[in-house]
Amino acid sequence: MKEFTYKFLSLIKERISEEEFNSWFKSLLIENIDFNNKVITIIAPSNFNSEWLQNNYSELIEKTLKDILKEKFNYKFKINEKNTSDYNENNQLLINKDPFKLKNKFIEKGLNPKYTFERFVVGEFNRFAHAAATAVAKNPGKSYNPLFIYSGVGLGKTHLLNSIGNYISKNNPNLNVAYVTSEDFTNDLVKSIREDKMNEFRNRYRSIDILLIDDIQFIAGKQSTQEELFHTFNALYDKEKQIVFTSDSSPKEITGLENRLKTRFEWGLIADIQTPDPETLVAIIIKKSQELEIKLSNELAFFLANNLPANIRTIEGALTRLKAMADFEKVEISEPFIRRILKDTLRIKEKDITVEYIIKVVGEFFGIKVNELKSKKKSKQIAIARQVAMYLSRYLTKMSYPHIGEKFGKDHSTVIHAENQIKKKIQTDTELNNKINTIINIIKSNY
Ligand code: ADP
Ligand code: MG
Repeated sequence: MKEFTYKFLSLIKERISEEEFNSWFKSLLIENIDFNNKVITIIAPSNFNSEWLQNNYSELIEKTLKDILKEKFNYKFKINEKNTSDYNENNQLLINKDPFKLKNKFIEKGLNPKYTFERFVVGEFNRFAHAAATAVAKNPGKSYNPLFIYSGVGLGKTHLLNSIGNYISKNNPNLNVAYVTSEDFTNDLVKSIREDKMNEFRNRYRSIDILLIDDIQFIAGKQSTQEELFHTFNALYDKEKQIVFTSDSSPKEITGLENRLKTRFEWGLIADIQTPDPETLVAIIIKKSQELEIKLSNELAFFLANNLPANIRTIEGALTRLKAMADFEKVEISEPFIRRILKDTLRIKEKDITVEYIIKVVGEFFGIKVNELKSKKKSKQIAIARQVAMYLSRYLTKMSYPHIGEKFGKDHSTVIHAENQIKKKIQTDTELNNKINTIINIIKSNY
């Protein structure tokens, strides 16, 4: 759970002030993710702390969990009284603050104010997508409509999309800008249908001037979402309102997407972000280390660029970790220090994804032990997780069926069967499909 806690806290940290983070979130630990009941258990240092979070940050916590897990989870607190001493002091300090002032604006507007063009480093790999995004921001609805940006994970799609929104909000405050993930859109739709408020839904979406939809690939297989998006698209497009999508693949490559949507996604401009080139990575590392107030020589920036995975999210995580550890140990950052602190991250660069790693991540995701995944146990939960791990081993590695079978202690026909079963299931089971997408994201972001 350490990795998950880390991921969760780093996202929270991006979304609130440092003071708030240090006062309320710093000491939290995620103890457990229950995927069956969709509940996360968070360990907090005191009742006071957990109640404050509950009263003032529940929206932020829920949204952040959803951003990571790609579906809605509830959460509950468990109190660990140890280690609370300096906590209470901090808590006292904050009691007098107006909790409403502490709330972050982005939650209401959807946009993350941190993601701006100013903070976006441009290089060969993203020059085209950046140019397209700035053109759209300067001339919404007029230059390229829709704009469709795609790339692998952690390469700046969400950042660019928010930059467009933030730029327009600032320069054209009269325009109605909306940033949603495709899942927000789906959830909004489902809720409106359930509450019999479809008119409101349509009015709301059709009064938008700039519609920014992140991670559109997740509407694959969701028919009513696609239907409604189709009508929303037409209504906005006809009024020359700007629409921007991001996705992990090009429109053609998204399976389970209606053709009429695919063709519309291709009407405007399609821009991809490629794998970052080493020079731009150095520039990004230098910029991020300045933002994080880390002292880093050019030589060390170069060393990091060459030895970390070409994934900007992973790089940010690595820098944050270096900063935290250097502050904690009160030392300067040097190459031996980097090698020690980032041992695991540095080592996996360029390595092929292994079946063992897939088994580990799938096991963690479903809350099943590795040896159970490899055992003969046939409970439904274990069987599904095992099939998912086999399917992903075919999908993400170059290993043959017999080879993969060996890793699970099974023969090749079991692997073939598993692959076929999962392929069939994800056609209709969108929940499973989403889970698999999340697992792929987790695996890829670590390589
Ligand atoms: P994606 O949506 O493609 O998975 P994100 O936009 O979330 O990726 O980017 C991951 C992290 O990397 C974010 O914190 C973002 O600010 C940062 N990032 C990505 N590209 C750049 C860039 N070109 N310059 C500066 N930071 C970047
Ligand atoms: Mg994103």
